[in-house]
Amino acid sequence: MKVISGTKVRKELLEKYRETIQKKKLKIGLAIIQLGDNEASNTYIRNKLKYTEEVGIESNLIKLPEKTKEAELIKVIEELNKDKKVTGIILQSPTPDHIDFTKCARLIDPKKDVDGFSEENLFSIRDNNEKIIPCTVKGILKLFDSYNIPVAGKDIVVIGRSNIVGRPLADALINRNATVTICHSKTKNLEKYTKHADIVVSAVGKPNLVTKEMVKRGFIGIDVGINMVDGKLVGDFTKEAGEKASYMTPVPGGVGPMTIAMIIDNLIELKEKEK
Ligand code: NAD
Repeated sequence: MKVISGTKVRKELLEKYRETIQKKKLKIGLAIIQLGDNEASNTYIRNKLKYTEEVGIESNLIKLPEKTKEAELIKVIEELNKDKKVTGIILQSPTPDHIDFTKCARLIDPKKDVDGFSEENLFSIRDNNEKIIPCTVKGILKLFDSYNIPVAGKDIVVIGRSNIVGRPLADALINRNATVTICHSKTKNLEKYTKHADIVVSAVGKPNLVTKEMVKRGFIGIDVGINMVDGKLVGDFTKEAGEKASYMTPVPGGVGPMTIAMIIDNLIELKEKEK
C-alpha cells in the first residue's frame, strides 16, 4: 500500500504559491469571519492564518460575539464584499444555531467565495464549467493529479452527499469522466457498491464505517472523515481496509492538509480573475 501524503503535497504546493505571489506581486487579502469561540474552529482558523501568512497573504480575523444577530452578520459580509483590499471571504462554520449558515455563506460575492459554497460556484461544477471548487474537493482532485492516479473510466463510490464535499466531488469526478455512485445514510447495502469500486471516497465522519470486507484488493481509498476516538484523530476506514488498498490517504496527513492548501489556491485564482 502506498500512502498518499497530503502533508508532502501541501509542502510542495505552498512553496509554489509563495513564489507565484512574490513573482506576480499579488496583493491578496483574506477575511475570516468567526462567530463565538468554538474550540475546533479556533484551531482551524489558527492554521488558516498561519499558512496564508506564510505565503504572503494578508489575513484578517473578524471575531464577532456569539450572540451577533444575523442581520449584523449580513452587514459585515456586505461591507467585505465591497472592500477592495479583500480578495476572499470565509464564514467559519459552524455558526451558532440562530444563524442560517448556508444563507449567509451564499451572500458572499461569488468572486470572493474562497470556500466555493455560493450557488454560482457550486452550479458551475454541476454545469461542467468549473469556477471556484470547494477546498476539500479541489484538494482530493490535486492528490489524484500529484500521484498520477487517473480517474477517467474508473468506478468511484463517494460516501456522503453533503453540499460541501460529497455532491460537488461527485460532480467534479463526473466532469473528469469517472463513473460515480453516491451513497449516503439511507443507502441500504453500502458494501454492494463499495466492493466493486476502483476508488472509494468516504466523507461521512463515522469511525470504522469502511471495513476490509467492503473493499476489493488494490482499490484506492480516500478518507475524508475526521473523528476523535480516545483522544486520537481517525478517519472512516478501518486500518485493515487501508491495508487492502494500492493507495490510501492517512488520517491525519491525507485530505486535511490539502483543504488548507486549496484555500490559498482558490485565493490566487480569485485574485487572478479580478484583473
Ligand atoms: P455531513 O455531516 O454534512 O455529511 C455526512 C454525510 O454522510 C451525509 O451526506 C450522510 O448522508 C452520510 N452518512 C451518514 N451516515 C452514514 C452511513 N452510516 N453510511 C453512509 N453514509 C452516511 O458532513 P461533511 O461536512 O460532508 O463532512 C463529512 C466528514 O468529512 C466529517 O467527518 C468532516 O469532519 C470531514 N471533513 C473533513 C475535511 C478535511 O479537510 N479532511 C473537510 C470537510 C469535512
